[in-house]
Amino acid sequence: MPSNASSPSFISQLCFGTIEEDLILPYPKMKPAEQETFKAIRSSIEQLLKPHEKDFRAWDEDGELPASFIEELKSFGLFSLVIPEAHGGMQLSATAYSRTLQELAKYDGSVAVTVGAHSSIGMRGLLLFGTDEQKARYMPKLATGEMIAAFCLTEPGAGSDAASIKTTAVKDGDDWVLNGNKLWITNGGIAQFFTVFAKTGGQAERGNMTAFIVTRDQAGVSVGPHEDKMGIRASSTTTVHFDNVRVPANNVLGEVGKGFKVAMKILNSGRTGLGGGTVGGMKKLISLATRQSKERVQFGKPIAEYGLVKQKLGHMVVDCYATESAVNMVNHLIDSGSEEYAVEAAITKVFGTEALWRTADEALQIAAGNGFMKEFPYERILRDARINRIYEGTNDILRLFIALTAMNEVGSELKELSDSLKGIFNNPIKGFGVISEYAMRRASLATDRVKREKTKFTKLHPALEKNQLVFEELTRELATSVDRILRKHGKNVIGKQFASRRLADIMIDLFVLASTLSRVSTAMQEQGVGKVTKEIEILEVLTGQVRRRVRSNMSKIDDNDDEFIKSLADDALDREAYRWDNVD
Ligand SMILES: Cc1cc2nc3c(=O)[nH]c(=O)nc-3n(C[C@H](O)[C@H](O)[C@H](O)COP(=O)(O)OP(=O)(O)OC[C@H]3O[C@@H](n4cnc5c(N)ncnc54)[C@H](O)[C@@H]3O)c2cc1C
Repeated sequence: MPSNASSPSFISQLCFGTIEEDLILPYPKMKPAEQETFKAIRSSIEQLLKPHEKDFRAWDEDGELPASFIEELKSFGLFSLVIPEAHGGMQLSATAYSRTLQELAKYDGSVAVTVGAHSSIGMRGLLLFGTDEQKARYMPKLATGEMIAAFCLTEPGAGSDAASIKTTAVKDGDDWVLNGNKLWITNGGIAQFFTVFAKTGGQAERGNMTAFIVTRDQAGVSVGPHEDKMGIRASSTTTVHFDNVRVPANNVLGEVGKGFKVAMKILNSGRTGLGGGTVGGMKKLISLATRQSKERVQFGKPIAEYGLVKQKLGHMVVDCYATESAVNMVNHLIDSGSEEYAVEAAITKVFGTEALWRTADEALQIAAGNGFMKEFPYERILRDARINRIYEGTNDILRLFIALTAMNEVGSELKELSDSLKGIFNNPIKGFGVISEYAMRRASLATDRVKREKTKFTKLHPALEKNQLVFEELTRELATSVDRILRKHGKNVIGKQFASRRLADIMIDLFVLASTLSRVSTAMQEQGVGKVTKEIEILEVLTGQVRRRVRSNMSKIDDNDDEFIKSLADDALDREAYRWDNVD
């Protein structure tokens, strides 16, 4: 699979109608040596967490993981997962790291979040941007868990709009002096190592921020009490305060003034950890719900025999397999050195967290009254699952990010095209060159008969021809829609959130389908069609779902009720109430 730093984004290319099949075929596998390491990790996680299975409910009620359990996590090496071997860590690839979080999430959301916040975001800045000296100073302590890490970006006035943070860092001699308050920081109460984002361009300059390493022992650092939360209650979430904290200049992470980029890179890079967690949660729920359906007898039969119960279970399997395929694919893109995976990583976060939410809700429905009782794990898993759609970028903001980032390149070509139209009179040869390149791409979308490279899959198993044709057709429709929307709105598309959301949903569906096609096709080629009949069934269901959803989203681009919906929202906003709440 020839992917590397110069590989394009699969979804950005899809917006042109181009299928970069070499990026996703054959379906990736964990390397044999890493499989061995991972098996050992999996069995030690089982050894550590199985005996605690009865404790998770109590810890959820207490709203805290006991200090003795955090020590156990440290002694099992769970804070060393992504740290280079040279600094005492396991140096897991993105694939093996994500699989490890999957295993943790099968047991308990709070435990997975505690480990994940450390490795995915807390110390990820040091891993990605740290100097050799900084790494040597902190990595060994982060690996043993002597230092647990936290990521401090959010503030009371700055959530999704991270560029609006108010925490400041002012240069004083060789030091920076930090002042400000951070909110809802995972691991805040147990961390000794903080990646902190502060403004370094003065209050007026939006977005000019810098990332700093701050440690708990520095004068002026304090943390608030554990927040009382809906879910992942046993994980530590606190405020973190910086009161005239003097941070030496050699604790700057990355470049001064480039902190926003650092924050975004950390979040992009850590996102598949969360994706792995969602897959683990779904696998656990499928086990719980199938056992429950076989044990519970109503109307003289186990409820597992009823169609409506089977319908829920079957959909859980499709959701889990599809998420797993997409998460593995993005991990592979990261592990093979691609720089262009941010959109695909965001897709796995959105799809996985929503698939987990559906699965948790349906598993609770199958358990019904039992599901509602604290004695059973369903309500806790449902509460734990809810946060995933909010943090590390809300799914709404990520949808805007997916659509706008993926369309960006098409937008640039279109802009170049319109600039060239103006320029034709000055420089006809250059102008027509650009037009004909774009026109060729467009022509290849307009008709199947135009033979142009990369508008089709060429390496899928031939028995998947029907699914392949659906994917290719939807791809052409995506490209046509992107072109149409960009021509209609130009750069004002940024404000067209209804349209962006539809495009994002189409892109999400197509990436998940592409990953699953790759997985099933590779399995068919390697094992033979007869051995993968269940996988083919999953692909049939997913292809149908994606086709129907994409078509529905496409049809709404021109035929929708957006203006009515906006008007009704405005009316409710004006009244701050439902208009028809009358007594009569
Ligand atoms: C348990 C927990 C743990 C957390 N851990 C951390 C952590 O470790 N480190 C950290 O820095 N932060 C952390 N956070 C913060 C988390 O990342 C933020 O909650 C998240 O980014 C959303 O910000 P917000 O809650 O302020 O929502 P807001 O940004 O206020 O958004 C409110 C709603 O408006 C929508 N919205 C906002 N802007 C737009 C827009 N432009 N267009 C359309 N819709 C929009 C959002 O999607 C959302 O639905 C944590 C939060 C929680 C609850």
